[in-house]
Amino acid sequence: MSFKDRTLICRDCGVEFIFTAGEQEFYAQKGFLNDPVRCPECRKARKHAQPQNTSEDRRRRQRSRTSSA
Ligand SMILES: [Zn+2]
Repeated sequence: MSFKDRTLICRDCGVEFIFTAGEQEFYAQKGFLNDPVRCPECRKARKHAQPQNTSEDRRRRQRSRTSSA
């Protein structure tokens, strides 16, 4: 099975980013079935902002982000 670079749209900022063949291979090896939904920048930002959360994050996203500080 071979991989090709693909262009995806970031769900957070809407920017186009490349899901490289190497990354796709990495994902496949890890058993990830879904494509990444965020660009590397947003992934990085989220990692810094919220180090360890999973389902809790989904609930918070539904509330408005009024407090920016
Ligand atoms: Zn992004």
